Amino acid sequence: MVFKERYLDPLPLLDETALKAFLRDAGANPEVHSRYIWKHMFKAGDPDVENVPGLPEGVAAQLGIRFSLKTSSIREKVMSQEDSTIKLVIKLQDDQLVESVIIRHSDDMPRNTLCVSSQIGCSMGCKFCATGTMNLLGNLSSGEILEQLWHANDVLRQEGDPPVSNIVFMGMGEPLDNYDPVISAILGMTDTHRFAVPRKRVSLSTVGVIPAMRRLTREAPFVQLAFSLHAPNQKLRSEIVPSANKWDLAEIMNCLDAHEQAQRLMKSKAKIMIEYVMLQGVNDMPEIAHQLGKLLEGHPFWVNLIPYNPTPHAPYKTPTHEAISAFSEIVQTYGVRAMERHHHGRDVNAACGQLALNTTETMLMITAGDIEDLGKGSLNQRAPKKAQKRDGKTSNRKKKVKDTSTRSVKKNTTKDESGLSWREMLVPIVSAIVLVLVIFGVDWLDASQFMDFTEEI
Ligand code: SF4
Repeated sequence: MVFKERYLDPLPLLDETALKAFLRDAGANPEVHSRYIWKHMFKAGDPDVENVPGLPEGVAAQLGIRFSLKTSSIREKVMSQEDSTIKLVIKLQDDQLVESVIIRHSDDMPRNTLCVSSQIGCSMGCKFCATGTMNLLGNLSSGEILEQLWHANDVLRQEGDPPVSNIVFMGMGEPLDNYDPVISAILGMTDTHRFAVPRKRVSLSTVGVIPAMRRLTREAPFVQLAFSLHAPNQKLRSEIVPSANKWDLAEIMNCLDAHEQAQRLMKSKAKIMIEYVMLQGVNDMPEIAHQLGKLLEGHPFWVNLIPYNPTPHAPYKTPTHEAISAFSEIVQTYGVRAMERHHHGRDVNAACGQLALNTTETMLMITAGDIEDLGKGSLNQRAPKKAQKRDGKTSNRKKKVKDTSTRSVKKNTTKDESGLSWREMLVPIVSAIVLVLVIFGVDWLDASQFMDFTEEI
């Protein structure tokens, strides 16, 4: 099969660009009336567009003909027996198939992460990846990407679970190779009138499409970025990721730095993740670990070492746990944080690198270690606890601001001689320390932890 332009009929109602274009042509107000439609779908829960109130005469009937809330359907739902991961095989209206994976975390911060596909197949051809063997068969529209989220929420509702809280673009396809629909889908996911997924909980993985990386930093710097590196030098990388031939690794590193700086300006605590699939005898040797350490030294990135998930499509072997640990230790001697990723849904071929579309094996780059925790400034298992604590602190913090003012009024009335409590003096001191740490680029110490501390005081 070869890549085909796709013409959708009906169009997905969730497709913002198509919907607004239709409303404009129909003489309606695209901004106002699209809101009416989504409110009807999301708040009233009525999928029948002909019932949307407030639309100009005739528009609702035309909408019903041209658009459909769901242009795709769940063809297969496979539950993992190893963990609670659910793989969804989604059938598109032209009978093509893509996959989404729901990763249900039941640790101390329960959350549901959805790994979405952005393309049918992929043209990047990564050698370890089952999707890479499919080539690119077509692009998904933004509506079709959003329908994956709609289906996942339906499944979770049936399971009695809360809706998806985190999104990772690590499924089939290179998201930055289908830029406009992906960005439109992200805006739909995070729109508080639609899916209301928090912005900091959307992550995107790329092999490094430089022009699109620059656009992403300009247009959606809030997106958490993961870079699929897999080798620390251009030559070896080009062997594992053939598309890497096209893009200079040094220039990609500059793009990552620019994205990190844009996030820092937004006061985001996110860290860019470097994904590294470990292939025995290919990129897991000590000398390669030293190269990786040198490449990343001084950059505030996190390295996620992903043990290769075997597929029949590739000849590679998975390194032992000991080999991965030894590799990780070498990398860390360069002041770079590295950790091994956990598997999710391996038994249903839903783990990283196992998704390829013949419905028996489909490749999705499943997050596991977990990328969605990037926004919380930590990769390790303690991260959810920390984030939960911080979330708890947010409301406490507000309360404390109020309490502090009350206390200070009381102190003033009791004529406190120092004028400042030890807490009040500590805040500027700790803030100054944090500022120095940030200015001098020592954020490998994780200045965010200090920020938490100042917030707590
Ligand atoms: S790893 Fe990602 S970018 Fe590479 S071939 Fe697979 S889906 Fe495409």
